[in-house]
Amino acid sequence: MTCPECGSEMVKRKGKHGEFMGCKGYPDCTHTAPLGPTGPIDESDRKSALKAYGAFISQKGWTEAQGSKWLQQTMGLNWDEARINNFDKKQCELLVAYIKLENTAGGESEIAIAMRKAQTRRKQ
Ligand SMILES: [Zn+2]
Repeated sequence: MTCPECGSEMVKRKGKHGEFMGCKGYPDCTHTAPLGPTGPIDESDRKSALKAYGAFISQKGWTEAQGSKWLQQTMGLNWDEARINNFDKKQCELLVAYIKLENTAGGESEIAIAMRKAQTRRKQ
């Protein structure tokens, strides 16, 4: 993970409120990123996750919980795997595309298969 502001490496740091990712260029660069349950949350991953949430709301009118349930049923994922926060950028993009496609065409698509493959890779 590199700093989106200065391009330096991001390293794990410990602060008053626990661990977080901080720029190696500190104190010249003060960019930080939150640390997720499975490691650092990349800024672009986080933005993509927000976009995926947005797609659920705008295309389906679903809440996060409803979207997660749908993911579990459609993709055969468990509760933890179906959390959009754990998805990387590529998975979020696939998800957004899948939501939109399903809305018009319906049914299982190649995107769902790709999603499942991406999830399997992530587990290894
Ligand atoms: Zn930086």
